[in-house]
Amino acid sequence: MFQDSQLKPGDVIGIIGGGQLARMMCFEAAKLGFKTCIYSDTENSPAFQVATSYVCASYDDTKALEGFTDRVSSVTFEFENLPVETLNFIASKLPLRPGAKALEISQNRLVEKKFFNDNNIATAEYLEITSYEDLVAGFNKFQDSILKTATLGYDGKGQFSISSGSTLEKIWHDATESNLPLILEKTVPFEREFSIVAARSIDSKIIYYDVVENIHESGILKKTIFPAKIDPNIKDQAEEIARITLESLEYVGVLAIEFFLVDGKLLVNEFAPRPHNSGHFSLDACLHSQFEQGIRAAAGISVIEPELLFSGRMVNLLGEEVNQIPELNKNSSVKTHHYGKSEIKPGRKMGHYVVRD
Ligand code: AMP
Repeated sequence: MFQDSQLKPGDVIGIIGGGQLARMMCFEAAKLGFKTCIYSDTENSPAFQVATSYVCASYDDTKALEGFTDRVSSVTFEFENLPVETLNFIASKLPLRPGAKALEISQNRLVEKKFFNDNNIATAEYLEITSYEDLVAGFNKFQDSILKTATLGYDGKGQFSISSGSTLEKIWHDATESNLPLILEKTVPFEREFSIVAARSIDSKIIYYDVVENIHESGILKKTIFPAKIDPNIKDQAEEIARITLESLEYVGVLAIEFFLVDGKLLVNEFAPRPHNSGHFSLDACLHSQFEQGIRAAAGISVIEPELLFSGRMVNLLGEEVNQIPELNKNSSVKTHHYGKSEIKPGRKMGHYVVRD
């Protein structure tokens, strides 16, 4: 019933998670006249500084969640590692955009790869690993491969590269410490890495951002080149994969899909059911950012053509690199974003900047 409801300026959008993505959604919500309420389990969350209001409580605190749902008109989320029960609880009371199904698929690399393969979308070859014997058999099959935790991994965490010189016993020991399900992926000899951000609204309209090229360092995104310099047929492949994914999930919101390019063909690495780091360029380089699209979708408003204004690159400021911001701010072709995090940690995403070509 409420799936068709459209919010009006002054209404409150609930956002679960309080990191930089939620923070950027709050800015964009305010521009459209919406208020925001963040729900995060972490004190001093970056989004608390810019939201209209916030709730700081654990994600399974039913009483706090009830209080949160009483204060908002629709809900979206900014990260994947949330209990599905929390989202199901919210969805029973309010429009939740995107829905819990997309989150559930994205939370587990095994389920995610099966989802793509079932939709005739290629991924790296993979095997579920439940014993040391599985790992040995998998290594014999794939040789160069990566053992990953199937859940709770991000920014290269919980990943173990395996090649001919590797000691499988040690890798098995380290990988099983966290007691999480494991997946073995064949190492893809990719030429380049790309991603696409796309969005769909309740009226089934779909928009695509330009495909971008991503450069990772130690499993963490370092740089995004927008738009990617690619053959039009790569763009078509990326958009088709995004369309199939959005439609098969009846998705309402923003998502990002990451790809490997191998022999002219895109293989899906993974998807994120939320705005994505590789789409941050859109805040400055598009008339309508990925965060605006997420807010539009959550509010039941049509998504809109993004309109790229200029090309360039987005660079993440990791750890102490955030201290470069005062110097970067002296350059008029550079736009910096500081996430307002209270503590600098090595490799932590502290901010980013966009430079126009
Ligand atoms: P992920 O956390 O799965 O996104 O992996 C982080 C990064 O590790 C990717 O962006 C790739 O650079 C690399 N990587 C992950 N999986 C593979 C794979 N199967 N083959 C080659 N490189 C990979």
